[in-house]
Amino acid sequence: MTFSTARSSALFDRAWAVTPGGVNSPVRAFNAVGGTPRFIESAAGAWLRDVDGNEYVDLICSWGPMLLGHAHPEVQAAVATAVARGTSYGTPTVPEVELAEEIVARTPVDKIRFVSSGTEATMSAIRLARGFTGRDVIVKFAGCYHGHVDSLLASAGSGLATLGQPQDIAFATPGTPGVPASSTELTLVLPYNDTDAVEKAFADHGDRIACLITEAAPGNMGVVPPAPGFNRFLATICAANGALFVSDEVMTGFRASRLGQWGLDGAVEGWQPDLMTFGKVMGGGFPAAAFGGRADVMSQLSPEGPVYQAGTLSGNPIATTAGLATLRLATDEVYERISTAGETIKEACAAALTAAGVPHVVQASGTMFSVFFTDQPVRDFDDAQRTDTAAYRGFFHAMLDRGVYLPPSAYEAWFLSSAHDDRAVQTVLDALPAAASAAAHSALEGTR
Ligand code: PLP
Repeated sequence: MTFSTARSSALFDRAWAVTPGGVNSPVRAFNAVGGTPRFIESAAGAWLRDVDGNEYVDLICSWGPMLLGHAHPEVQAAVATAVARGTSYGTPTVPEVELAEEIVARTPVDKIRFVSSGTEATMSAIRLARGFTGRDVIVKFAGCYHGHVDSLLASAGSGLATLGQPQDIAFATPGTPGVPASSTELTLVLPYNDTDAVEKAFADHGDRIACLITEAAPGNMGVVPPAPGFNRFLATICAANGALFVSDEVMTGFRASRLGQWGLDGAVEGWQPDLMTFGKVMGGGFPAAAFGGRADVMSQLSPEGPVYQAGTLSGNPIATTAGLATLRLATDEVYERISTAGETIKEACAAALTAAGVPHVVQASGTMFSVFFTDQPVRDFDDAQRTDTAAYRGFFHAMLDRGVYLPPSAYEAWFLSSAHDDRAVQTVLDALPAAASAAAHSALEGTR
């Protein structure tokens, strides 16, 4: 089955004329897989509908936010009520207090500050960590993406990996033109899951390190779960050296589990990050993100303290209303549904790829998962880059042709929602055998 994409193609041409690459965020383009991105005109539950009238099971979920599926009636009703009251006032509002209380109740943060994107959240958390500690060096891991913050655009996972930019280890050089060397020369880049490298970094530079930032469970090089105890080790070594441990839960927050990745490790093992960043799910499909943490650190933030940070639309009443409605609806049952659908898809995907003789590894952290087209477990970015992108290209298009919209990059997590019911899951299962065969053929062609 091949869908007509005439209208999407025409729109893509128009978009190219007025927007670089025809998209407003690079991974949306099909650069890594070829072909035309579909222009979506509506979505409901687990389904996307494009401008040509084609329907797809959505395994992107807006790159994470749509935990409850699209157009959830209760979220929509809350947003409609809020919109009727006006859309932005530039004053404090009720929903931002309520959302802050909800997040403070669910996570180990004492105080939280809202911003409009995950990029702003990590950028601000790093400024605060530097302001609080009076130190300059920051540590990140190769393959972890924290948004397009200049100082963090070094070995930054999916987007850059998809675009084939060179990646660097150690004190970083910029991962993209446009970032001055001075912006990354205080950024130390280490291999993920490598405790020896972290120990060496702190032994060599401990008194200069303001913070270590990590994705709580990386999802931007595909899903690479932290080795057991790795996040606890990071929290401990930061504390021992007077550095702050910044856990980036923009992707995992309220998604990997009800309490995010922290619910799977910190809450169980009894430790807390100094700062956390959130985004995606907490905005309910609107531009909202946040950073929060220890009261003594957060109180350094303006206007309470001297570290400046601000935003015209921060804590926007529509976005915080959508986020609050989403979090209040994100019950244990929601996560169980997502987990059950995920298990079914993971098992069927592995079975189809095995039957087609395609090397693969399915990796998960909580309800997040992804499939690597490689035969070894993936522990870090070097391992992730062994994934067979030619095989993924074939797999991706065969799924798309059968009505399943996967991320158009081999280095991304696959996202589900609680609206992925039996019909949606069955559509994915029905597409898998042919997609696995296509992956086998593309892998062969890729080696010719
Ligand atoms: N941090 C993580 C872990 C992310 O996955 C992302 C985006 O995918 C960001 C930060 C940046 O968020 P945003 O795209 O909202 O700027």
